[in-house]
Amino acid sequence: MLTVEGLRSRYGRIEVLHGIDLEVKSGEIVTVVGANGAGKTTLLKCLSGTQPVSDGRIVFRGESLNSVPAHRRLAHGLAQSPEGRQIFTNLTVEENLRLGAYLHSDERVDRDMTEAFALFPILREKRNLAAGGLSGGQQQMLAIARALMGRPSCLLLDEPSMGLAPLLVAQIFEVVTELKNRDVTVLLVEQNAYGALRIADRGYVMETGHIIISGPAAELIADPRIREAYLGL
Ligand code: ATP
Repeated sequence: MLTVEGLRSRYGRIEVLHGIDLEVKSGEIVTVVGANGAGKTTLLKCLSGTQPVSDGRIVFRGESLNSVPAHRRLAHGLAQSPEGRQIFTNLTVEENLRLGAYLHSDERVDRDMTEAFALFPILREKRNLAAGGLSGGQQQMLAIARALMGRPSCLLLDEPSMGLAPLLVAQIFEVVTELKNRDVTVLLVEQNAYGALRIADRGYVMETGHIIISGPAAELIADPRIREAYLGL
């Protein structure tokens, strides 16, 4: 579904992605784990089109995305739930969700919202409240739900567990797993390597702008190098 080949990206003169190769197959949950500053967010920004690519190719469902601007990528089926959530705090929960559906004006939008509420029942309870009043975990749920309102075939998730209490992290990861049943393919970027690998089919480990190890998630969890360096086990 998504193929990344030799991807390079830079901030000014400093290159931070040094030729990333990565593949996400339809129906998979794939995770990219790595320490702070490894380049995970930059990679997702390249995929969503908000960070320039200096070399390499991004192919999504058989089409090159390199020259497709960020605002057109959702129409291709690629949505991002960004790091730091970036919800509209002074709009209500429902208004945020409707904004996520900006490409669609049909009656399915209401059905999509009902489905989003089924995934995150707390959002239904709070639908008429300002999003700024939600807890951090609820805002994260809203960010994911809003991205889903765009009906993506592939969802890019940047650090959904960041800053959340363990119970909420478990809840968020459970929903990510549930997306599989809804035909949404997921590329998940996480510093919480253990949690992310446990729900993923395959994983990539990123270090200073390179992919250093990749493989089935279960194999990565069992790999002594990863257990020591990333899982603290
Ligand atoms: P984090 O988990 O902290 O978000 P990350 O793995 O997502 O880390 P990136 O945020 O992609 O890493 O950062 C990769 C490198 O690029 C780091 O060295 C970082 O300092 C640098 N960097 C990130 N954003 C910018 C920017 N806007 N300008 C200059 N350098 C940047």
